[in-house]
Amino acid sequence: MLLKLTILPGDGIGAEVTEQAVLVLQAVAEAFGHQLQLERKLIGGAAVAAANDPLPAETIQACLSSSAVLLGAVGSPAFDDYPRHLRPEAGLLRLRRELGAYANLRPAVCFPALVDSSPLRAEVVRGTDILIVRELLGGLYFGEPRSIAGEAGSRVAVNTMAYDEPSIERIARVAFDLAMKRRRKVLSVDKANVLECSRLWREVVTRCSKDYSGVQLSHMYVDSAAMSLVQHPGDFDVVLTENMFGDILSDQAGGVVGSLGLLASASVGGRVGLYEPVHGSAPDIAGKGIANPLGAILSVAMLLRHSFQLGNEAACIENAVNETLNQGFRTADLARGDEKPVSTSAMGYQVVEAIVRSGALKARESI
Ligand code: NAD
Repeated sequence: MLLKLTILPGDGIGAEVTEQAVLVLQAVAEAFGHQLQLERKLIGGAAVAAANDPLPAETIQACLSSSAVLLGAVGSPAFDDYPRHLRPEAGLLRLRRELGAYANLRPAVCFPALVDSSPLRAEVVRGTDILIVRELLGGLYFGEPRSIAGEAGSRVAVNTMAYDEPSIERIARVAFDLAMKRRRKVLSVDKANVLECSRLWREVVTRCSKDYSGVQLSHMYVDSAAMSLVQHPGDFDVVLTENMFGDILSDQAGGVVGSLGLLASASVGGRVGLYEPVHGSAPDIAGKGIANPLGAILSVAMLLRHSFQLGNEAACIENAVNETLNQGFRTADLARGDEKPVSTSAMGYQVVEAIVRSGALKARESI
């Protein structure tokens, strides 16, 4: 198969982890006989520096004419004082909207080898397997009006949270459909005790659930869900929630399973799927070669599964990550006690090696 992809490394550790993810993609393509056509483009701070636009037109065009997009991360403190439309994050929000990617899937799985990397007790975190389904194109991040206005000392800032019924219904259906293939539980997270958006959310989700009699639906307020997530992470299956709540809860889920650097994501539902690790550009560790590339690498697995239906290739990457962790390789964010951390590139190399080994094994078996 020809896999035509746009690669957007972005800023900070985004570029570092994407480099490893592309090496893994190349290894799996070779092992399974696929042809890659990769085009690298600028986004975020790198694009502002080069073209004074966090999402240049040629980046959008390349993304829209490819079959999937792999992104690193955007953001840098260097742009903190720039106007909103010139900030790196504005480029990513625009890209999501241009692609129409309204469903953000964020799995948080506790790898057996990492039960001791979680700040939680092993018996609490063991077996955690959560899929956060986050609405990605609505809520506070996109709502209008938005502004900061007025005289210095008495300025007023406004953001708007808005949701319409069709936007809630389409994301709810994604969550229910995915739950049917999992443990058939959907927890819808809202703040219906104080927010009108959440009251509508709860009503529409409940209505949709009638079409999925095999799925058990429950509701929780976001504050209570945040507490339960650290108390009983193993109880969660599919978590359905709006844009900002999903953003916050998924970082928390990253902490629960050992590191934010492990989490992958897929943003689907639009013309072209967008795949990226959940973490940001991590300016505190950028340039040091210590970032965990596994979230980016696992995003490649999601890309192959969701945009190309290449389930075996995706599983090959996931198995290689599992094997690498079982062998004891840890980046600094995962290392505990006297475990010696490996670099970003060494971690990527180990995953590539595991893929090459599994390919050689399969070739021997077929002789
Ligand atoms: P962050 O996710 O970049 O970092 C949070 C913490 O997690 C930091 O201590 C960082 O060192 C650590 N971390 C993150 N990824 C890691 C990895 N792969 N390996 C090891 N440690 C890792 O969040 P932040 O510090 O709040 O934001 C930094 C910048 O990234 C900001 O400009 C923010 O807007 C941007 N951001 C971008 C995205 C995105 O591109 N999707 C997401 C979140 C934040």
